[in-house]
Amino acid sequence: MRVGVIGAGQLARMMLEDASTLGIDVTVLAESPDDGAAQTCTDVVIASATDEAGLRVLASRCDVLTLDHELVDLDLLARLEAEGVVVRPPTTALRYAVDKAEMRRRLGAADLPMPAHRIVAPGEAFDTVALGDALGWPLVIKAARGGYDGRGVFVVDAAPEAHTTIAELHTAGITALIEEAVAIDHELAALVVRRPDGQMASWPVVETAQVDGVCREVLLPGVLDPTVADEAEAIGRQVAELIGVVGVMAIELFATASGLVINELAMRPHNSGHWTQDGSVTSQFENHLRAVLDLPLGSTSLTAAAVASVNVFGGDDPIDLDEALRMALGEANAHVHLYGKSPRPGRKLGHVTVVGDDGDTVRSAAWSAAVALGTPVPAEMEVAT
Ligand code: ADP
Repeated sequence: MRVGVIGAGQLARMMLEDASTLGIDVTVLAESPDDGAAQTCTDVVIASATDEAGLRVLASRCDVLTLDHELVDLDLLARLEAEGVVVRPPTTALRYAVDKAEMRRRLGAADLPMPAHRIVAPGEAFDTVALGDALGWPLVIKAARGGYDGRGVFVVDAAPEAHTTIAELHTAGITALIEEAVAIDHELAALVVRRPDGQMASWPVVETAQVDGVCREVLLPGVLDPTVADEAEAIGRQVAELIGVVGVMAIELFATASGLVINELAMRPHNSGHWTQDGSVTSQFENHLRAVLDLPLGSTSLTAAAVASVNVFGGDDPIDLDEALRMALGEANAHVHLYGKSPRPGRKLGHVTVVGDDGDTVRSAAWSAAVALGTPVPAEMEVAT
């Protein structure tokens, strides 16, 4: 069996680890031989994720195509599907991860809980004063397509600024999704995996912490009320079924005083699920491969009561990553996962996961190792290392 992965970043790289364990072959479609997964994969096609010729070469070598990221050309993938190429998740589901406006429309039609919002496509008239009256200030304006890690999310305080932001998106041909600014108590992520026949499994819901739209840590069980966590998990399963995803799907949610609302979907292994490599019987990467190949799913049970996963970022000062790794591994319980990237300020370089009996202990151990690897502690976060 050979899986073709569109994109060759860290997610593809980590998929390769589990593919190797299962004896599954993988070909990656990489922009450059330096991409994280191109460094470790034995079969690499060099092309952009939207390049038809490159995708056709990938498809000709593989039984199934899956994805490392969602910056793809849906129409092109749908054409390949129509010719018989197996794409998992199918484009009928993938579109709700590629386009946030389509996701809001689909989930809204199913009465799922979401922030109040409006969708304004290029060419449509809009009145930012009326939008502010309807949704309240500040407004959260999002690019419906192409954003990630908070790029493409703009929080604006006043009508003229909102007008410029929406107009700029429209000039670039991008639909604007305009949302109320939700008063968030906690950010959560549910993680589900689904086979083509509908068999599903889900992992326990995690609490995530973002700074400037970028995930910094993932905690389990965090401070979540178990009933809220169960509700989020049920929403995750409901959405997976509704849209017919195949593979792993992450669903980001906000817990608010008046209940849960859905933020967005990702249809591939997700940063909020990296903890499963060390804290679950089956990792999200392995179960993603199993699902897209229509193999029986593995158990999603926890291997410990508490898990903390902290992302590693480059800091302002240059570091010797080899020496930093030596220091980080001094934290004996730390599982260090590095993505093969050279350090640059603000660049996500890897993550550290620690599992154990106690939430505070695993969190501080994970941060200690991440800090040893050069990760700056954001001023917004309280961390005792
Ligand atoms: P991306 O696709 O770039 O990850 P998201 O839509 O997930 O963007 O938004 C990034 C972060 O911005 C979220 O994790 C959350 O902290 C914040 N955010 C997004 N939408 C809202 C909203 N409607 N109200 C308040 N905060 C929001």
